[in-house]
Amino acid sequence: MPELPEVEIAARRVSAAVAGARVESVLAPGMVTMKTFDPPLDALAGRQIGGVRRRGKMFVAEFGDLSLLIHLMSAGRLQVWDKRASLRDRASRLLVRLDGGRELRLREFGTQQRAWAKLLPADAVEADEAVAKLGPDAWPELPPGEFAELMDQSHHLHPLLRDQRTISGIGRSWVDEILWTARLSPFKKASDLEQDERERLRGACAERLGAALDHYEDVIGATVPDKLPMPLQVHRRAGEDCPRCGTRIEAIHFKDYVMCYCPEEQTGGRVLKDRRLSKLLK
Ligand SMILES: [Zn+2]
Repeated sequence: MPELPEVEIAARRVSAAVAGARVESVLAPGMVTMKTFDPPLDALAGRQIGGVRRRGKMFVAEFGDLSLLIHLMSAGRLQVWDKRASLRDRASRLLVRLDGGRELRLREFGTQQRAWAKLLPADAVEADEAVAKLGPDAWPELPPGEFAELMDQSHHLHPLLRDQRTISGIGRSWVDEILWTARLSPFKKASDLEQDERERLRGACAERLGAALDHYEDVIGATVPDKLPMPLQVHRRAGEDCPRCGTRIEAIHFKDYVMCYCPEEQTGGRVLKDRRLSKLLK
């Protein structure tokens, strides 16, 4: 799933490409993509796009007093195309046809339809349930006091940092990078953090997400590719050497994600039990 840096760079590029364009028509080939029906999509015809911004891991495309709130979920992409989509393109979920033949297109890979959009009055976006429940952004850097309050929960760091209601923008990829940067165990309880550990974690959130965004600004041109070149150092690198200490990066496989960490620097030298592996070996 795209996380804060991936959604932010896409919002910047898409916004630069479409700001000021006029909408000719809007289609939703995704049967379940639109989660609202009033106002109807037709209400966007003739309007100008003000811009596209990020809210948490979502996009907000602005059309005057109406806004489209878009969530890519795990396999969606929001991109600008020079030509209109073929109506046979099964990945199309939402097509905003612009003047000059261009198209702002929400696509989704795979057979599942989980990406969604809502057309809302612009002043209702913040009160929408998907937005209202979001915690503060993990980037830019949060003030120490606010971060300490967020971490005052007896949950393990790995799930807590991915909980968008606590802090927004971090998912399965960047959580591994942030915890590795802060040299903290994914299983440490947030409320057990010493002050210096909490400060390391606060800095690591902003540093890693900010560095990813800087990297994307350097390497991504006007068009956002389907697969972003993510500057990951431990996530998806199980079996490789830790770039800092050379210890083998270990992984724990869960049902729908993999947690990667450096045992030497994060778990006191202990290799944690991989439930999948131990099940297979029985
Ligand atoms: Zn290491």
